[in-house]
Amino acid sequence: MTGNAYADDLLQRSARLVDEGWEGGFNAAQSKTTNPVDAGLADFGGGVALVASFSHVVALEGGSGLTLVDTSSARLAPAVETSLRAWSEDPVDTIVYTHGHLDHVGGAPMFARMAAEAGARTPRVVGHANVAERFRRYDTTEGYNHRINARQFRGRARLGSLGQDAQKWTVEWVWPNVSFVDRLEIDLGGREAMLYHDKGETDDHAWVWLPESRAICGGDFLTWVFPNAGNPQKVQRYPLEWAKAMRAMAALEPELFLPAHGLPIAGRDRIHRVLVDIATALESLVAQTLDLMNAGATLYEVLATVKLDPVLAERPYLQATYDEPEFVLHNIWRLYGGWWDGDPSQLKPAQPEQLATELSALAGGAERLASRAVELSQQGDHRLACHLAEIAARAEPASAGVHTARSEVYRRRRDGELSLMAKAIYGEAAAVSASIAGTPDGATQ
Ligand SMILES: [Zn+2]
Repeated sequence: MTGNAYADDLLQRSARLVDEGWEGGFNAAQSKTTNPVDAGLADFGGGVALVASFSHVVALEGGSGLTLVDTSSARLAPAVETSLRAWSEDPVDTIVYTHGHLDHVGGAPMFARMAAEAGARTPRVVGHANVAERFRRYDTTEGYNHRINARQFRGRARLGSLGQDAQKWTVEWVWPNVSFVDRLEIDLGGREAMLYHDKGETDDHAWVWLPESRAICGGDFLTWVFPNAGNPQKVQRYPLEWAKAMRAMAALEPELFLPAHGLPIAGRDRIHRVLVDIATALESLVAQTLDLMNAGATLYEVLATVKLDPVLAERPYLQATYDEPEFVLHNIWRLYGGWWDGDPSQLKPAQPEQLATELSALAGGAERLASRAVELSQQGDHRLACHLAEIAARAEPASAGVHTARSEVYRRRRDGELSLMAKAIYGEAAAVSASIAGTPDGATQ
């Protein structure tokens, strides 16, 4: 490569991790090195650069001005812009959205404003046809999305304080003015490019093939964590279609892979291995789940049975630190089946509080359930412990003793989890109970 020092550093990191795996096994400190967000600019030569952020921004120089693939978030875009301007003074001419998530489109208003201030034409904004549908959906689900994102990323959508910190979640959208459905041949920064659509994390994803540089801008198809194909609080994801996209990318034999999160990768074989590993992991979860569904299994049997290949689970780019395989199974169930979980009592359920009151009376009181929950939790049976703690708290919602126990159970559960999504939900449960019980909040660190 003819990259600058920062590009070389990122590519060496990814090469080492792909070729050799973790040094001494996975640990959190090493996993941080896979997620550069420091606004450094990696120059790969040939007018192709990447500014590391959340999301990254890929910049292409040439033609009638800069092309940006993604714009980062509203909060991080100014630092991206500063970094970018040390590399090129050209006005932003084209913005490509890999998809409509806020960390990819949130910086667009700033870049559009700056182009106007520089007297340049209004940027071309290119995205899949479903990006506009997504923006409309965000407008109609603003309160919901504000809360789930506060919970997922900051652990702060406390049940008792809904609405208290409800600053506006949606941004001022910069709508695509060029959209496509399957694929689009397009000039980006004076070079030939092809945009492909595949479903995966979202139904509006685009990935970019730059034949001249043999480079792919992969959006969120590769993020250096286990694919976000299971997300418990969000709309349908598409694991098998995701795998298909990875195989289509691999078939182009790219030499440089520029993801929207995590490390860029250089080298045809290395990229091939990563893409195929991710495809294989997802295909395997889908195949195992469909086999069980076809054989009449319930959702609970699927959750207890389907496993990710332990060799793949070790890969530095498949760590379940964000989403996790178990959550993907729910999405496969929902995609190919229905929402019913196979438990007839859940088809038209009683209110959980009613059931909890009955069960707790039978068990001899909520306190007994709560103390058994703590016992199970101490023994490491967190799944069962959480059920009992939940029943106890629903039966006695104002009991400080019960909530002290529930807080302990969920705190321990959170601490034993790896994925941000599980940690966030359990951490919130622990914090809500701690605040009801008046004990120190164990979920704020
Ligand atoms: Zn993203």
